[in-house]
Amino acid sequence: MSRRALVTGGAAGIGAAIAERLKADGFQVVIADVAAERLAATAERLGMIACPLDVADFAACELALGELEARGGAIDVLVNNAGITRDAIVHKMTPEQWSQVLQVNLFSVFNTVRVLAPGMRTRGWGRIINISSMNGLKGQFGQSNYAAAKAGMIGFTKSIAQELAAKGVTANCIAPGFIRTEMTMAMPAEILDAERKKIPAGDLGTPADIAAAAAFLASEDSRFVTGQVLSVNGGQYM
Ligand code: NDP
Repeated sequence: MSRRALVTGGAAGIGAAIAERLKADGFQVVIADVAAERLAATAERLGMIACPLDVADFAACELALGELEARGGAIDVLVNNAGITRDAIVHKMTPEQWSQVLQVNLFSVFNTVRVLAPGMRTRGWGRIINISSMNGLKGQFGQSNYAAAKAGMIGFTKSIAQELAAKGVTANCIAPGFIRTEMTMAMPAEILDAERKKIPAGDLGTPADIAAAAAFLASEDSRFVTGQVLSVNGGQYM
């Protein structure tokens, strides 16, 4: 029986690339996303199960993930990838921009872990992979909400890594730098060009670069790696 993986925010970008890679590595993959139409299209294209879900809503996670496990079997690998940005400098940031970003990027990680970690503990095997960000490590002008959420994710991950280690469950973060996705391609060309010049490797990364890191952290090979933050950023921040 192959292991089962759940990738949140799996309808597009980095999440879809992680899902595709885990499937190629032999996992049964479920993708969860709030963008229902795109989710259905991606699931069909990649031959995966779709789980429409707002990960910011604890009750919805409890219901949807409970059903998912009851019907299709346990989730062994959880990839918390869903994320949003609502950028503004702090003296102009609205309370809504602050709380939306915290809810979707950080509270979501508690929601899914709270529902799925008990089963991983009982079965004695699990992998939790949280997609943080380079900006959670270094801060970023105009992104205090996003950087706070992504840094919070790291503290959360290191804590649960300690709690779950003796039960065969690892928890790690990946901190991507600039990755070529819809989100970054929407930036003005001159800003993108200026950012590219700051990357020692000379170019943006690809979703496949993040997927390769996730594949390692999901594998048996990473069994002794836990509570870590794996930066995948072309050397931009170390
Ligand atoms: P995308 O916006 O392309 O994909 C994220 C997906 O998550 C979208 O389909 C989005 O739907 C979905 N989503 C948003 N809110 C929720 C929710 N409440 N519940 C479920 N799904 C939701 O982002 P990327 O692929 O670029 O980024 C993926 C992750 O990587 C994010 O956590 C991001 O912060 C992180 N990251 C990305 C970097 C980059 O350079 N691209 C750099 C560093 C980190 P919708 O489109 O409807 O919002």
